[in-house]
Amino acid sequence: MKAARIVKPKESLQVQELDTPKPKGFQILVKIQSSGVCHSDVHVWEGYYEGIDGQQLKTTERGVKYPLTPGHEIAGLVDSVGDQVEVISRGQKVLVYPWIGEGLCPACRIGEENLCDKPRSLGIYKDGGYAQYVLVPSYRYLVKMEDDMDTDTSAPLSCAGLTAYGAIKNANLKPNENVVIIGTGGLGLMAIQLAKAVTGAKIIAMDLDDKKLEVAKKNGADITINSKKEEPVKAIMELTDKLGADAVIDFVNASKTVETDMQFLRRRARLVLVGLFGGELKLSLVTMPTRAYRLIGSYTGTLSDLIELVSLAGRGVIKPVVSNRFKLDQATEALTMLKEGKISGRGVINP
Ligand SMILES: [Zn+2]
Ligand SMILES: [Zn+2]
Repeated sequence: MKAARIVKPKESLQVQELDTPKPKGFQILVKIQSSGVCHSDVHVWEGYYEGIDGQQLKTTERGVKYPLTPGHEIAGLVDSVGDQVEVISRGQKVLVYPWIGEGLCPACRIGEENLCDKPRSLGIYKDGGYAQYVLVPSYRYLVKMEDDMDTDTSAPLSCAGLTAYGAIKNANLKPNENVVIIGTGGLGLMAIQLAKAVTGAKIIAMDLDDKKLEVAKKNGADITINSKKEEPVKAIMELTDKLGADAVIDFVNASKTVETDMQFLRRRARLVLVGLFGGELKLSLVTMPTRAYRLIGSYTGTLSDLIELVSLAGRGVIKPVVSNRFKLDQATEALTMLKEGKISGRGVINP
């Protein structure tokens, strides 16, 4: 099989001819039809994340080994199954849950494998979706898709969609509450669609771009704020009888956005941090207990979240927008375009 692999960080990916894996036991071999190109792939390719004070957090120090086949948003067809698999058969259309844990730590034990102490995520710690086939360690990580669901638009559900859904769940919204969504790019838009569909909360979308805010409104935002034109703290206070936001979900998560978020929180507010922009935050410690704020880091979602999400997507509640399609030998181009902000929706590789 062919796979586009990162041999060394920052170098062009190489399309290599590898042995097609043979599934054993509970393993499944999936023939990949669509593999989403995610911003985390850019970090894995560059070999680091941005820390504080310009410090770089190296991927190799966090257990990533090269050469690696990246790609964790994988949709395709079951090609072959191990001898212990009885519940899923060849040709079934599936989405792969990539946030696989080792199965034994406390997180895995309660179904939060995405937060495993020793993660084995596909496309990050194990070979992933920039290939013709992927070996999935157990049939348990497959989510069945209806035959009429499109693999290109479904693949991004397993990271982009799941991250948005996980953040909405962490915000723990009630119908009498409001939520401010910071950043209305791909993830923010999906969060707006999902919050509309499942929470009943009033949705306030904030961004710097009127065009994006218009799209946010069409997708379910009740109110939009352009934080370039309006003073965000004043605007939120006016909208909430001077009480503030019940929850904020920050898809940017940079020093500047979170400093602002902290100024319009209502008592008992949840501030959910999702974006990987990074930086640092100065906190007034005494206000943490007196106003009972909760700061919550949110990373992807659980397998059961993905099952719910696929069901919502099947009913058209959430629609990832695919804007660019690539072949395997265009993987470097896809990552470069994403890094340079030239992909407006999601890029997908069709191997
Ligand atoms: Zn674990
Ligand atoms: Zn991702």
